[in-house]
Amino acid sequence: MSHSTAKILAIVNQKGGVGKTTTAVNLATALAAVGRKVLLIDLDPQGNASTGLGIANMDRRITSYNLIIGDVGVSDAVMPTSIPKLSLLSANIDLSGAELELVNMVRRENRLREALAAEPLPYDYVLIDCPPSLGLVTLNALTAADSVLIPLQCEFYALEGLSHLLKTIELVRGKMNPRLAIQGVVLTMYDRRNKLTEQIEQDVREFLGTQVYKTVIPRNVRMSEAPSHGKPALIYDLNCAGSQAYLKLAGELLRREKKLTEAA
Ligand code: ADP
Ligand code: MG
Repeated sequence: MSHSTAKILAIVNQKGGVGKTTTAVNLATALAAVGRKVLLIDLDPQGNASTGLGIANMDRRITSYNLIIGDVGVSDAVMPTSIPKLSLLSANIDLSGAELELVNMVRRENRLREALAAEPLPYDYVLIDCPPSLGLVTLNALTAADSVLIPLQCEFYALEGLSHLLKTIELVRGKMNPRLAIQGVVLTMYDRRNKLTEQIEQDVREFLGTQVYKTVIPRNVRMSEAPSHGKPALIYDLNCAGSQAYLKLAGELLRREKKLTEAA
């Protein structure tokens, strides 16, 4: 039984390069900046969230692989970051083996959920940066999460991918995690100059209504520069349009959470 009240958010989209990691790192930083205690779990063997927070590969000794395969607890694996109130549970290439190892394990979709429930989580938010697939590792995130945050890039195949993801979420709700909610969809790398963007935005908003965040994240070169400096964009350049958008997104997310709490 878990005694903590940490909200667990899985950041999911089976497509790569849509802004999951950028959203995970910068939303986590923005939430920490406004005083929330945040744990970011890197659940992608590429370890981009860990790199983006400046954690070198050699310093990732206990990772999300160890957590999910079950030989360590959360507090053994968590490390501080250079950002106050933001902790990291890192990932490295080891995690690429988990997909196969999990197949033969008991309660294979529940490993992360059980690890997170095994001890009190001293955080307000736990953000999980998922790999670009809907395999067993992502299923573990969906089973552990309270809700899903979907970064969506306004491009031609976005809606097809989205409906596939929504079906998967429905499936997880039915079989493994009845409480799984959709926290929201956030439009990323938004480019007003691209004609297709507006059309797709309209379709997505029509299809999902208020589940789509009002805040959109603009395409902004500073966002793509930041990771190579081992810093969240919010630290690298707080005033750039992308950083400001992530701050706004954090505000919108907190207002949404407050409404949900009041309604409950
Ligand atoms: P994912 O985790 O879904 O694979 P990433 O967050 O790694 O996606 O983003 C893919 C690439 O796009 C990265 O190089 C990242 O730096 C860049 N990127 C992400 N968001 C933006 C943005 N708002 N503007 C410009 N580049 C971005
Ligand atoms: Mg990523």
